Amino acid sequence: MSAVCLVILFIGLLLDSTSAGVPLPRYEALLKQQSAPEDPSLGLYDDGDKVVRLTVDNFNATVVDQNRGALVEFYNTYCGHCRRFAPTYKTVAEHLLPWSEVLIVAAIDCAAEENNAVCRNYEVMGYPTLRYLGPGFQPSAQHYGQNLMTQDVNEIRELLAGMVAAENLTSSHNNSYWPNVHYVTENDSASSLFEGLSSVTQYVAVVHEPENTTLGIEVALFMTQWPAVAVRRVIDPAVAAKFKIDPANLPMSLVDRKGEITAYAPEFANGESYAKKLEEVLGKKNITPRPVKVHQQVTTPSPNEAGKNELIKEVHRNKHFVYQADLEQAIRTVLHNEVPKKSEISGEKLLALQRFLAVLQRYNPLGANGRQLVSKLKDFVVQFNEELSGKHFEDEVKRLEQQLSPVYSSTHFVGCAGSNPRLRGFSCSLWTLFHFMTVQAAGNEDSQDPLEVLQAMHGYIKNFFGCSECSEHFQAMASRRKIWSVPNKEEAVLWLWAAHNEVNQRLSGDATEDPEFPKKQFPTPDSCSECYRTPVSKSESLEIEWNKDAVLGFLKNIHNPQFVSRYGVQREELLHPTEDKMRQKRQISSVFTDTDMQMGMLLYAFCIVMMILAFKLFAFKGYRKKPYGHDLLGKV
Ligand SMILES: Cc1cc2nc3c(=O)[nH]c(=O)nc-3n(C[C@H](O)[C@H](O)[C@H](O)COP(=O)(O)OP(=O)(O)OC[C@H]3O[C@@H](n4cnc5c(N)ncnc54)[C@H](O)[C@@H]3O)c2cc1C
Repeated sequence: MSAVCLVILFIGLLLDSTSAGVPLPRYEALLKQQSAPEDPSLGLYDDGDKVVRLTVDNFNATVVDQNRGALVEFYNTYCGHCRRFAPTYKTVAEHLLPWSEVLIVAAIDCAAEENNAVCRNYEVMGYPTLRYLGPGFQPSAQHYGQNLMTQDVNEIRELLAGMVAAENLTSSHNNSYWPNVHYVTENDSASSLFEGLSSVTQYVAVVHEPENTTLGIEVALFMTQWPAVAVRRVIDPAVAAKFKIDPANLPMSLVDRKGEITAYAPEFANGESYAKKLEEVLGKKNITPRPVKVHQQVTTPSPNEAGKNELIKEVHRNKHFVYQADLEQAIRTVLHNEVPKKSEISGEKLLALQRFLAVLQRYNPLGANGRQLVSKLKDFVVQFNEELSGKHFEDEVKRLEQQLSPVYSSTHFVGCAGSNPRLRGFSCSLWTLFHFMTVQAAGNEDSQDPLEVLQAMHGYIKNFFGCSECSEHFQAMASRRKIWSVPNKEEAVLWLWAAHNEVNQRLSGDATEDPEFPKKQFPTPDSCSECYRTPVSKSESLEIEWNKDAVLGFLKNIHNPQFVSRYGVQREELLHPTEDKMRQKRQISSVFTDTDMQMGMLLYAFCIVMMILAFKLFAFKGYRKKPYGHDLLGKV
């Protein structure tokens, strides 16, 4: 009877959990709808932006050995600074769109594994990196384009105009749109300005360019789409005067083929304002520009909204869970994208990689195949004393993964999935992986070195993390917070927790914050009220007084491999089998809500009552039959 009750209880719970919309069994379907990890990254720029999206497939055909120049941004989608810079870069692209016959504004996402080779070959040292690749550009050992060391729109424009002016075009790169970079001289006259120009050109605009500026060349670039006018620049005020130019009041004039000259005063002293004035004058003469040629964009996959919402609901239900899928994505990105992007791994970098792999080998959250992969990879890397190339490392990862396949039990972020594919992701999973490893180290009796994980993390973040700004901040924070003086392994767990909270505080309300996952001090009071010494209601406004013992206990608990959630895992068979039973137990408790449990208890109580009733009925029946037995046996 009791067994029957338990069966009823289980069916009851199952029915109720289904009606409550628990998404666990539907996850497989969701994942199928989402883009696979090998799909190209969504990047930071959309179809509507004027930034030309580059990938390994169109990079050479778009920016190498072309008859126009290109400004190329090398970025990582997961880098906060790149995300913050993206709106500025879109403005640059929009602003310089009229220059596009001479120079395009393009970008490549180095976080997309497919682009590893390009980013590696171009020796990108930090993200974002802006490079000018001129007409006829060919990459060579010492030449991967000219770095632009600014992220200011006006400075970018001025630097580019200077680079265009400095180009010495050979006939093979001839580009009829390229502006005439020579200055008007004292020998020039109104008629000589038209020499060599086609009959389409009806006017020459002469622009006074103050010394050490790029004003004239900028005007010429903004006027690229106006074949009816050629732009020439003049520096010498005496020469300028021949064309009715008064640098202080009327710094620009328009000369027609009949030799008539009219001077103008643009509103502002910048190329765009001068061009606007010219456009206004030409418009009145019914002269129109050519349409700007729109560059053919590569298509990007669109994110799956339905799948995303289900996932976010699940993660909100279990706020502080650590997910197996995230730990795996962190390792995968490190091995497939971050390390392979380095062209040369030597000296400090090589040591950092060896340390990282040694620690990962010890505290590896992957299943048996993944453990073998990391172990073999570490053995491979420690063979090198001097130098290893990113390409060699990448080839070895691929070879080993093929040999040990399948290695990963999941293919997507779960706890680190953002409400927008451009948010969270890798950087979130990297924190998670390092927290996980500090906790495992704290429980490892064999290891006495309190710094083993923190040192590996410091080396990794310094030498490989593709968010340059994060890396710099982290190194500064590490020395300020005296990382090398952490006395024991439990303090190492707490050091990382406190350091992460400092970053959370700094980034709270930042443009890179996911509105679905605002940056908060961790753990929040609803996850661990005992972690707070200050009453929870006050802790938001005051400096939090933490109960560090409780925090340590909490961190150890959530990072315990037994409690790492396998939600979103597609290949459970790859993970450690002894954890399977615990997982099922945990999944049942996480699948059933309070209402589920109440319904279950009700059903169970109902069964007990039924059992008592049945027992009473049976006993009563037995009592009534007694006289009959008495007669039969002939007893009194
Ligand atoms: C070393 C490092 C330095 C970074 N520095 C910068 C920077 O300078 N500027 C910048 O813009 N971005 C920086 N980032 C990225 C940034 O910290 C976040 O990773 C990113 O904004 C995504 O945030 P998130 O909301 O996904 O949560 P994350 O902050 O990435 O946290 C990931 C998960 O860890 C858990 N968690 C949160 N806080 C703690 C804690 N204190 N202890 C334990 N677990 C915690 C939560 O479950 C959370 O979901 C850095 C990342 C790393 C790995």
